[in-house]
Amino acid sequence: MCSSYVDSDVYAESLNTNGTDILFKLVINAVRDGITAQTYKKRAFFLKPIISDYKQPNETPDGLTILDSACTANHMFQKLFEKYPSYTEVRECLTCSYIQTKLSITITANLPTESINFMQDVLKSRFEEQRKCIQCASSIQPIYTSGRYILIEPVTNKQGQNKTKFDLPIVLKDIPTKINVFDKQFTLRGLINFLQPSKCLSMDAIGHYVSYNWRDTNNSWERYDDLLNCIRHVRPSTKINCQFIMYTL
Ligand SMILES: [Zn+2]
Repeated sequence: MCSSYVDSDVYAESLNTNGTDILFKLVINAVRDGITAQTYKKRAFFLKPIISDYKQPNETPDGLTILDSACTANHMFQKLFEKYPSYTEVRECLTCSYIQTKLSITITANLPTESINFMQDVLKSRFEEQRKCIQCASSIQPIYTSGRYILIEPVTNKQGQNKTKFDLPIVLKDIPTKINVFDKQFTLRGLINFLQPSKCLSMDAIGHYVSYNWRDTNNSWERYDDLLNCIRHVRPSTKINCQFIMYTL
């Protein structure tokens, strides 16, 4: 979100106009001031209600609150972007007038193979498909409205098995830098990579998320990892396991 805020005027404008949103404010301030102690303090403030939904925070006698924030990226996205979905789908039945509205924070792209080349086609056909009215089964052409970003989860079927394969191995330079969907063109900003906990660590090790960001201003890839002090430049030929890909206007 931070690098998109810097690289895209349209995206920056959308965060600025919703500047009272605590997450957007965090991004805007991080870009302006860098990552400071305040950033971590604010992050704890908005993580608390998100995590408390399903895990009881541990209050210590000296007044500290210990949050066990271990959760999946998907859970975090569903909560963080609750008010800002990737797209809204309205299914209005012309036969029985039933209207169904659905907000989607993420978009699952079911790829026919592990190759990311099919992502654009998969999304195009998915949003052109007719749906059935749940009341009277008439065909409906849904109307989609997108936000300023789309968060795509590329998945495929495990070969020969009826199971979904997440964490697709993808070479950075193979990811389309532009995606056309909902009559808009979105630009690649980065992807989320989950690092499995090392086997030699304790059973409690939970793994770690890092992001690989594509900077369209200079056509380069950067790796962001909050366990390191600096950004790392990475080769476009780097292959990583991808959980989510973020595009913004
Ligand atoms: Zn109907």
